[in-house]
Amino acid sequence: MSLLPLVLATRNPGKVRELAAPLALRGFAVQSLPDAMPDVEESGSSFEENALLKARAAAAFTGLPALADDSGLEVDALGGAPGVRSARYADDAPDARPDDARAVRDERNNRKLLRALADPALPRAARFRCCMALVWPGGTRADIVTHGAWEGSITHAPRGGNGFGYDPVFLDPASGRTGAELTLEEKKARSHRGKALARLLEEMDRAQARNLR
Ligand code: IMP
Repeated sequence: MSLLPLVLATRNPGKVRELAAPLALRGFAVQSLPDAMPDVEESGSSFEENALLKARAAAAFTGLPALADDSGLEVDALGGAPGVRSARYADDAPDARPDDARAVRDERNNRKLLRALADPALPRAARFRCCMALVWPGGTRADIVTHGAWEGSITHAPRGGNGFGYDPVFLDPASGRTGAELTLEEKKARSHRGKALARLLEEMDRAQARNLR
């Protein structure tokens, strides 16, 4: 069986690696974004809007079906912030530089978050959310959009050396460990991204079964 090319609207090689195997089982050969494609401004007000923006731009640029995800952290006491601004939450800090490495940004974001929750009276409930969107060039097939959430709370100090982003300050209640104290496999089994991906694969299987009938 020849595989159908599918572009992943991300420049993160970790995401490409994670998605290549399950998509190959469904008949797709995963490609990363062409270098020539300009960055897409994530101007949506929801994870779904941003995932669709990125997927549609990649499908239009390449003429291939495209899969994008968008994710972030919502903290109840902050009215859902940082939300769609999760990656850029502390970019307003005086020492922030546009070319700061991801790890530097992540640490600054975590410091800002812990400061925002310094008042001990504030509830610390939070969740990660992820939206995945698969779209076809020219809308030749129906979009598939799925969601996943991971409920937890914000710790009082960072813990653990795995993962990225807000993982060191996000407590998974089922294990009593932060996202950064879980192995990659443990995190995949419970994370927002793992759940959105499982639902996407189920929907793809259903759509394929319908087309075969
Ligand atoms: P993106 O969807 O990859 O652009 O993620 C947006 C931002 O949300 C990241 O830069 C992180 O700050 C945060 N984020 C999303 N998923 C996770 C996660 O699994 N762990 C920690 N932080 C995350």
